[in-house]
Amino acid sequence: MALYNPKSMHADEFINDAEIRETLEYAEKNKNNVELIDEILEKARPIKTATGCKCNGLTHREASVLLACEIPEKVQKIYEIAEEIKLAFYGNRIVIFAPLYLSNYCVNGCLYCPYHYCNKHITRKKLTQEEVKREVIALQDMGHKRLAIEAGEDPVNNPLEYILECIDTIYSIKHKNGAIRRVNVNIAATTVKNYGRLKDAGIGTYILFQETYHKESYLHLHPTGPKHDYDYHTEAMDRAMLGGIDDVGLGVLFGLELYKYEFAGLIMHAEHLEAVHGVGPHTISVPRVKKADDIDPEAFDNSISDEMFAKITACIRLAVPYTGIIISTRESEQVRSKLLRLGVSQVSGGSRTSVGGYAEEVRPHDTEQFDVSGQRTLDEVVCWLMENGHIPSFCTACYREGRTGDRFMSLCKNGQILNCCHPNALMTLTEYLVDYASEKTKSVGFDMVERELLRIPKDKVREIARQNIEDIKNSNKRDFRF
Ligand code: SAM
Repeated sequence: MALYNPKSMHADEFINDAEIRETLEYAEKNKNNVELIDEILEKARPIKTATGCKCNGLTHREASVLLACEIPEKVQKIYEIAEEIKLAFYGNRIVIFAPLYLSNYCVNGCLYCPYHYCNKHITRKKLTQEEVKREVIALQDMGHKRLAIEAGEDPVNNPLEYILECIDTIYSIKHKNGAIRRVNVNIAATTVKNYGRLKDAGIGTYILFQETYHKESYLHLHPTGPKHDYDYHTEAMDRAMLGGIDDVGLGVLFGLELYKYEFAGLIMHAEHLEAVHGVGPHTISVPRVKKADDIDPEAFDNSISDEMFAKITACIRLAVPYTGIIISTRESEQVRSKLLRLGVSQVSGGSRTSVGGYAEEVRPHDTEQFDVSGQRTLDEVVCWLMENGHIPSFCTACYREGRTGDRFMSLCKNGQILNCCHPNALMTLTEYLVDYASEKTKSVGFDMVERELLRIPKDKVREIARQNIEDIKNSNKRDFRF
């Protein structure tokens, strides 16, 4: 039987089933242990330092106790600390991105995904480079600067060469004042060599959802195709990091398995990356199974309530304080609103989950991956965020300035966010307002930029930011960054 070892490179050892089961027993036994819960909450709180702020994070056992706890005042404390941590490290900024679906050809048989190869009624489509260009122009015309590209796994139709060609095309398009400045990639697990090629192509984060950490369920849910190999999939982030990719994004597809099991596995995965590579996940995504062509979410009996979903998100924030937490348009406005207060730092806006969907007037359904709950335009999302006190940020400076992996984490830990990310957010928001926003959004936005400029602590930084913002408003100069 495999033994738990967070430093091991073997999936069965760093995501160890026996350790998860013991963790869940420990959490259940201690879910009303007020003394222990208070101790864990105290450990999770941000601590002021000479340069800024730091957080200890939590072990998977500690975080699992919090997740199991049902004492209302303690749950409320979890929510408060989650918001405190988010504000300490990310301020009131929310990073904006959009998914771009390149191809829905797929050779896997995943039971929850409409792309599964047995699905004969979904129209299969793969963008040509000309179509990629049209999509990117449509996305730039909305105001997007950051994309997450998505594709099914199909070595014949979507080989890595195709993905690399698309990335090149995306970065090459400069339409009006627009540009895509960061391409994150969500494609199937691959080899160290291929991860090196993605790194050389200038990708931002490599994202791969584990779907489920429960091996038996994983094998059942992925009955056929290369994705069936649980170990190869689970060890993908190690290969990505060995291939030179510093920023990796984890995720679980909630609803497939028992959430307590998934949560412990997810935190163990983050601990493993930190233990082996010295840096934890750049992002963690929290998707839930949605209705899709040939997929009925009711078929999975582990769906979680909105309330539990919020608690899971807050506990992730406490356990992995420096990670970006991503929520997509799978979720409704109401859920997104709540989660934005509990640690989420990135949202998608104006998303279409169909291949070629952005260039179409009307949202096409025939190649859609799943139902999108948030149907608002990017302009509406931007305005709504600001009206709720969040700064929508189109910033992509960190990775373009080489602040990836542990260098990004140290910026976060040194509390330099207000002197660096905050002005970058305001300058990119101004670009958005000038180039793409409606009159209403402009008015809300320019007020916010003025107010938020005053919060930049260093006089010199504040003055440079103010000058750059004036330049953006009065000329076509773009892409200022700290
Ligand atoms: N092919 C890649 C892979 O194998 O991981 C990733 C691309 S896939 C388009 C992106 C993600 O969509 C999957 O990792 C899965 O978690 C999510 N997904 C699939 N079916 C879904 C559904 N019915 N509802 C919500 N998310 C779903």
